[in-house]
Amino acid sequence: MKWPAFAYERARNLQDVWRVQAEHGDGARILAGGQTLLATLAFRLSEPSVLLDITRVAELRGVAVSGGTLRIGALTRHAELGRDPLVRQHAPLLAEAVPLIAHPAIRNRGTIGGSLAYADPAAELPACILALDATLVLAAQDGERRVAARDFFTGLLETALRPGELIAAIEVPVATASTRSTIQEVARRSGDYAMAGLALCLQLEGGVVQAPRLVYFGVGSGPVMAQGAAAALQGRVLDGAAIAAAEAALAQDLDPPADLHGPPEMKRHLCRVLTRRALTALLPATEKAA
Ligand SMILES: Cc1cc2nc3c(=O)[nH]c(=O)nc-3n(C[C@H](O)[C@H](O)[C@H](O)COP(=O)(O)OP(=O)(O)OC[C@H]3O[C@@H](n4cnc5c(N)ncnc54)[C@H](O)[C@@H]3O)c2cc1C
Repeated sequence: MKWPAFAYERARNLQDVWRVQAEHGDGARILAGGQTLLATLAFRLSEPSVLLDITRVAELRGVAVSGGTLRIGALTRHAELGRDPLVRQHAPLLAEAVPLIAHPAIRNRGTIGGSLAYADPAAELPACILALDATLVLAAQDGERRVAARDFFTGLLETALRPGELIAAIEVPVATASTRSTIQEVARRSGDYAMAGLALCLQLEGGVVQAPRLVYFGVGSGPVMAQGAAAALQGRVLDGAAIAAAEAALAQDLDPPADLHGPPEMKRHLCRVLTRRALTALLPATEKAA
C-alpha cells in the first residue's frame, strides 16, 4: 500500500521537537530508526500529519557511565548497543540480545528508544530492560520524569508515555562481580520475532541466588515477569533442584495466549525449556559437568 500524505520535519535539538509537537499536537509522530513506523504507515495503521525526525538530536545520543548507572541514549541503534564497550562491560545482557533482533540492515537503523516505545510483546529489548531493573528517562517540554521499566509497559503495544513525551534515555544499574545474565529464545528462523523468549538477570553470591528477575517475551501482551519462578530461586543454591522448582512455578506465572505460532501449552513448554537452558547456562562449570 502507499503511505498517507504527511509533512516531514527534522529536529536539530529538543527545542525543535517541542515546537513541532506544539504546532501539530497528536498529529506529530516521532521518527527514530523508522524500522517499525514506516511499515505501519504503509499499512495505514498510523496516519500522522507530520513525521518528526529526531535522529539528529544530540541530547538523545551517547552511552556513558556515572555513579553506578549506565545511561544509554534513546537513539542508540541496536548494532551500536551490541558493540559498545561500556554496554558490553556494564550491561552484557543488552549486547547478548542484539544478534537475536531481526537482521543486520534493521539493527543498523532501529533504535533502543523506538523498540521500547513500540513495545512489541515479542521484542527482546523490553524484556531485557525489565530483567535489568532499568529506568526510562522520559522528556517533555516541561521537564523530565523517570519511570521504572516495570511500570512502563502497560498493555499490548501500550506504554506509560504521555502525549508530548519521548524516551530520552535508559538508565541501567551497572553489573557487579556477582551479576549473571543471559537471554534465550526460540524463533522459527534466525532474525524472526521470538515464538517465546526469556531474559534473565540474577546475583550469584557463593553459589546462592539473590534477586532473580526472569522476564518472558512472546507469551503475553507485554514482557512478563515471573514472580513464582523468582521466589522458587531466591536464596537457594543454583543447582538442578532449584532449576526444576523454577520450571514448575511457571505454571502459575504464565498465561500465554494462543497465537500464530501455536497454542498456550506449546508456549508454556517452550518457556520451561528456555528456563532450564538459561539457568543451566549460569551454573558454575563444576555443576554443569556433574
Ligand atoms: C522485518 C523486521 C523484523 C524485526 N524483527 C525484530 C525482532 O526480532 N526483535 C525486535 O525486538 N524487533 C524487531 N524489529 C523491530 C526493530 O527492532 C525496530 O527497529 C524497533 O522496534 C523500532 O525502532 P525504530 O528506531 O526503528 O523506531 P521507529 O520505527 O522509528 O518508531 C517506532 C515507534 O516508536 C516511536 N518512537 C521512536 N523513538 C521514540 C522515542 N525516543 N520516544 C518516544 N517514541 C518513540 C515512534 O513514534 C513509533 O511509534 C523488526 C523490524 C522489522 C522491519
